[in-house]
Amino acid sequence: MDTRLLTAEPDDMRLAADIIGAGGLVAFPTETVYGLGGDAMNPMAASLIYEAKGRPADNPLIVHIADLQQASELAESLPLSFYALAERFWPGPLTMVVPKKPCVPDATTGGLPTVALRMPDHPTALELIRLAATPIAAPSANISGRPSPTRWEHVRDDLAGRIDAIIASGPSAGGIESTVLDLTGPDPVILRPGLIGPQDIERVLDRPVRYDPALADTEERHGAPKAPGMKYRHYAPSADMIVFRGEPEATVQAIEQRREREQKAGRKVGVLVYSGTENRLIAREFFSGLREMDETGVDLILAAAVSEEDPIGFSIMNRMLKAAGYRIEEVGV
Ligand code: AMP
Ligand code: MG
Repeated sequence: MDTRLLTAEPDDMRLAADIIGAGGLVAFPTETVYGLGGDAMNPMAASLIYEAKGRPADNPLIVHIADLQQASELAESLPLSFYALAERFWPGPLTMVVPKKPCVPDATTGGLPTVALRMPDHPTALELIRLAATPIAAPSANISGRPSPTRWEHVRDDLAGRIDAIIASGPSAGGIESTVLDLTGPDPVILRPGLIGPQDIERVLDRPVRYDPALADTEERHGAPKAPGMKYRHYAPSADMIVFRGEPEATVQAIEQRREREQKAGRKVGVLVYSGTENRLIAREFFSGLREMDETGVDLILAAAVSEEDPIGFSIMNRMLKAAGYRIEEVGV
């Protein structure tokens, strides 16, 4: 399949919308990462998304909408908290999980009785949804397991020949995927950390919001330094990766020592250290940093952990530890 490179000009946008309408796949920019879009109401299109990405069929897709009317067409019911959060954070990097209506295909939700909804904060994404006149199911536009794409070139590198078109635009401003919030239980639960944190949500809802316990990266849960390639590896570069965590100076020292040792042993080593950089900027550059490491052909990436005190740092560490298959060296303990 020839993958067309499109712009956000009107003729190209019309073509992109027609491709979606015909059941095809178009990658498009959003403010988080690039998405791989197909008609959310067409089970064949949803299946094509899984096939193009090599994504396990039980991992549900986020459905992107352009107005609240679409939300009520897809959701069986919408709690008041949904409206309050939509009012505050949409369009934006918050995905809300709500009970689905029967019209939403099982292929889109991975067989779940719920649907994940998001209104992206990107003019091109919103225009594509409006022109296609249908909600657009869109996971990140990468091969499953690889770092998420924050530039159109990343999409091309992973998916050229496997999808109909890419709308090429600038780099994604956020750099990591949306916060996923489950609104179907008695209390709201964050299933995936993102730029919007629990406290931001608590301030709107005036009630406690917690992270899903499965997000804890404790050693008890995942075990101390583990071999790479274990089942948790995700967002992963081709190179092996180890995360060093501890007091900043000691961490840099430990990384330097390890680098020397590995280089003497003949390995090509890349180092990812972001000292003195704001977490928001690190989030923006994190995935492209991993891809660049791979392009330089390193065998091993040594990365310094970032501060997890704010929700953005927590989200970066969630991705970093998955990318490393939970190989962590605690420095100075
Ligand atoms: P991606 O689009 O590749 O960034 O991944 C979408 C994320 O949203 C995954 O973590 C999914 O598990 C999550 N997700 C999508 N739909 C649902 C749903 N109905 N219930 C719970 N999580 C969901
Ligand atoms: Mg993804």
